[in-house]
Amino acid sequence: MPRKPKTVAARPFRYNPDGQLLCDAVPLETLAERYGTPLYCYSASQVRERLALFRKHFKRHDHLICYAVKANSNLSLLRMLAREGAGFDIVSGGELERVRRADKRAVARTVFSGAGKTAGEMDLALRAGILLFNVESEQELELLAERAAKLRKKARVALRVNPEVFAETHPYISTGLREHKFGIDIGRAREVYARAAKDKWLSPEGVSVHIGSQIRSAAPFGAALARVRALVEELAEDGIRIRSVDAGGGLGIDYTAQLGAEEFDAAKEVTEYAAALTEGMRGMQVRLLLEPGRFLVAQAGVLVARVLYRKRNGAKEFLITDAGMNDLIRPALYGAHHEIVPVERATADDSQNAIMDVVGPVCETGDFFARDRAMPDVHPGALIALLDTGAYAMSISSNYNSRSRAAEVLVDGKRVRLARRRETIEDQLRFEE
Ligand SMILES: *Cc1c(COP(=O)(O)O)cnc(C)c1O
Repeated sequence: MPRKPKTVAARPFRYNPDGQLLCDAVPLETLAERYGTPLYCYSASQVRERLALFRKHFKRHDHLICYAVKANSNLSLLRMLAREGAGFDIVSGGELERVRRADKRAVARTVFSGAGKTAGEMDLALRAGILLFNVESEQELELLAERAAKLRKKARVALRVNPEVFAETHPYISTGLREHKFGIDIGRAREVYARAAKDKWLSPEGVSVHIGSQIRSAAPFGAALARVRALVEELAEDGIRIRSVDAGGGLGIDYTAQLGAEEFDAAKEVTEYAAALTEGMRGMQVRLLLEPGRFLVAQAGVLVARVLYRKRNGAKEFLITDAGMNDLIRPALYGAHHEIVPVERATADDSQNAIMDVVGPVCETGDFFARDRAMPDVHPGALIALLDTGAYAMSISSNYNSRSRAAEVLVDGKRVRLARRRETIEDQLRFEE
């Protein structure tokens, strides 16, 4: 019987008795004064805590956690994770270089996913000596074989199979239709493995799956692994010994949980996830690879913005902030919900909620963070925090409207490190004439 798991706080942000919102032990207002806004602020201790939570739940298995770099690719964050012994899941040559600069030794713990790897990227990864290529098509396998032969470097490969676990209507997948471009049909996998096994420069060692992102139920993960287990058994009959199974990432979080309420219990989520995976891979003697992204970093981050204006257009009221969709595109791109809270509770009157749209300065109607949201009575000059923006936020930011990217700080208890300085217009203009 598993013990009742200890509750782990959903977020590292809370108000002190003076009504100041803290990240770990540091008031966000202090950081905003020092580094300006918009400002991404991450808690290193929270990310470590999430990593430890994963480790604890999989400690009975030989496993490696390969953090999905695309969720948040800040170098200081990667360095911190590398120091903790994490591996990485990359999807480009650029991400490989980030991992290499974070920690050279972490390259050997790196898996390379993605449906569109180029020959150049394969060469980089072969030379660097990554752990495994997650190959997503037969054509990619052919190209990899060619590059490996050319460089005389053996490529360790896993085929990323599409286990067809989800009905098209499954509600927990936010990228359902896009999934179709990923992976190899599991029904064809045996044939493709046989092809790989014949090649002197390919070493088929793994099977990988990644069934989507922001999945809030454990069952589909278990179902996917059960399909993988059947494949691993078939491959054994074919004389192909699979050493690692990569369960991908995808574990979701509750973006609607109120700050301070314990509605989201990270420990419980991981307990259920681990139980489903363990059940799915029962009896398999393989190393388990995991590629969590969002779950490790999303709730460790906030985007701090300053309110510029509050205005009324007819019946509608708008809060215009100095952060825009170029900083945080998730509401526009995915219809994502982010909780928004005042950074100084004293400056906001909780009893005076007003229904407002919270928007940015970018010239797009899609430039919004919240629509018709009950907001405390904040006024121009006040700071607000957009919660759960540690994942797929800064890493998808852009320079749209020629806006310079925000700064990022990494907080660890009382310590603060500027993890990325604010961009300047000179940074933006450097590549142009
Ligand atoms: C994006 C991605 C992940 C991480 O997904 P999360 O939902 O952030 O956990 C893991 N593996 C692959 C192959 C991915 O593309």
